[in-house]
Amino acid sequence: MRLLMKFGGTSVADASCIARVVEILEQHHKKGDELAVVVSAQKGVTDQLIDISAKLPDSKDASAITPLIEALRTRHMTTLQGAAPGFVIEIGPIIEERLDDLSNILHAVHNLRELTPRSKDYIMSYGERLLAPILGAALEQRGIPSVVLDGCEAGIVTTSQHGESTALPDCDERVRRRLGPVLKKSVPVIMGFMGCTADGILTTLGRSGSDYSASIIGSGIDANEIWIWTDVDGIMTSDPRVISNARVIPEISYLEVMELSYFGAKVMHPRSIEPAMRKNILVRVKNTFNPSHPGTSIVRHQKRDNRVVKALTYIEKVASININGAQMIGRPGVAKVIFSALADREVNVMMISQGSSEANISLIIDELHLPVATEALAPLEKQGIVREVIENRNVSAVAVVGAGMVGAPGTGGRIFTALGKAGINVMMISQGSCEANISFVVRQEDGPRAVRVLHDEFRLSEASDEE
Ligand code: ADP
Ligand code: ASP
Ligand code: MG
Repeated sequence: MRLLMKFGGTSVADASCIARVVEILEQHHKKGDELAVVVSAQKGVTDQLIDISAKLPDSKDASAITPLIEALRTRHMTTLQGAAPGFVIEIGPIIEERLDDLSNILHAVHNLRELTPRSKDYIMSYGERLLAPILGAALEQRGIPSVVLDGCEAGIVTTSQHGESTALPDCDERVRRRLGPVLKKSVPVIMGFMGCTADGILTTLGRSGSDYSASIIGSGIDANEIWIWTDVDGIMTSDPRVISNARVIPEISYLEVMELSYFGAKVMHPRSIEPAMRKNILVRVKNTFNPSHPGTSIVRHQKRDNRVVKALTYIEKVASININGAQMIGRPGVAKVIFSALADREVNVMMISQGSSEANISLIIDELHLPVATEALAPLEKQGIVREVIENRNVSAVAVVGAGMVGAPGTGGRIFTALGKAGINVMMISQGSCEANISFVVRQEDGPRAVRVLHDEFRLSEASDEE
C-alpha cells in the first residue's frame, strides 16, 4: 500500500512522542508499505511565533527575541538528543542555523516596525522547519532512509494569499514529479503547513494547515489512503473538551467532515478533504497514543444508519453583523454591494441570513475580521445604501451536521424545541443548501450548553445501529 501519514503537533511534542511516531512508521515500512510523511511543528511553537511577531513592530525593544530563541533551541535540541542521539552532530548545526535565521528575521521585523503578511508567513513556517529534520534523523537512526523536504520542494504551489493560501490545480502533477522517484528509495518527510507561489515566495495554508498539506501530497502521490495521526481516537460526535461523553464516529462522509471542520471542529483543517475527495482517497483519523484503535474512516458514501444527526460543533468566538434599512427593500444589488465591500477586504462570511422583508441581512464572520468588516461597511451607511450596521462580538456559532438530515423532516423542529426548552435563545439560523448542516448562533455564554443539550437530544453518546 502507498500511504500518506500526517502527524500533528501533539504527536511530535517531545522525544518520547517521536519514538511512537517512528514505531508506527517502522511497522508499515517493514510490511513493505510505501510511505510519505507530513509533519507539523511541535505543539505550541506556531503560537509562540505568531505571538512574538505580532508584538515586535510595536515593542520598545527586541528583548523578547533571545528568550524565545533560547526556549526553541532547548526544546528542539532536547528532542533531537532523545529521538536521534546518533545524529546530533549532523542535525544540530542545521537547527542552529535555522534559529540564527529566525532571530535575524525577528530583529528585522522589530527594526522595520513592520510585519507584512509575507514575512509573517515566513516566520510561522519555522516551527515545521525546526522539527522536520529531527523526525527525518529519528527514522535514519532506526535504519529507515529518509529525505526531508519543505512544502515547496515537495511540489505544493499555491495562490499568493498569505496566511490562507490554497493549492493550485497543477500541484498534483508537481507533487507526483517531485516525490515519485523519492518514494521508491526512501521515506520523504515533508514540512506541513507551507507551500510557495509559482515565483517561489513562501506561503502558509492557514492554521492547522498540515492536514491540508497531507491531502495535497496524498493526492499527488496517488496514495491508497491518507492517515491523519492526532491525539484523540478519531473524529468524535463533538469536541471532547466540551462534551465529556463524546464518542468516536467509526465512519463519516467527506461532506460531513467538510461541514464539521468548516464550523470549527479543530480536528481537521477545513480544506483538507477536497484533494482527497477529488480522487476518492480514504482518509483515516487515528490516535498516535492509541494506534490499535481503528479510528474514523472518511469515505464518499457512508453506510446509512439510524442517525439523522452525526456530530455537533461550535465556534466559540464569532461576530455577528446585522445590517438594517428599509432602503434595502426591493432594491436590487444591495446584497452585492455589501458582499463586494467585505470581499474586497478579504473578510470571509461564514453564515448569511436574510429576513423575508428584505429589510435585514445578518452575517456571521470570524471575530478577528470584525474591525476590517466595520471599516468596509461604514461607507455604505454614509451613502445611505443601508440604514444601520449593528455588531455583536459575544456570539458563538453551533453547527448540527449529518447527511441523514437530507430529506428527513422535523430535524429543525427537534433542534429548536430542545434549545427552547433549555431556555437558550437562538439569534440566527442558517441551513446549508446541501441540507447536511443546520447552523445557528447563540450568545457566547450559551454555546457549550447548546451543544450539550443537542448531544443529549440526538443521543450521540450511544452507538448507532450500524456499530
Ligand atoms: P493535531 O496537532 O494533531 O493537528 P489538533 O489539536 O489540531 O491536533 O486537533 C485535535 C483536537 O481537536 C483534539 O485534541 C480535540 O480536542 C479537538 N476536536 C475538536 N472537535 C473535535 C471532534 N469533533 N472530534 C475530535 N476532536 C475534536
Ligand atoms: N503548525 C501549524 C499550526 O499550528 C500547522 C499545523 O499544525 O497543522 O497551525
Ligand atoms: Mg491540527
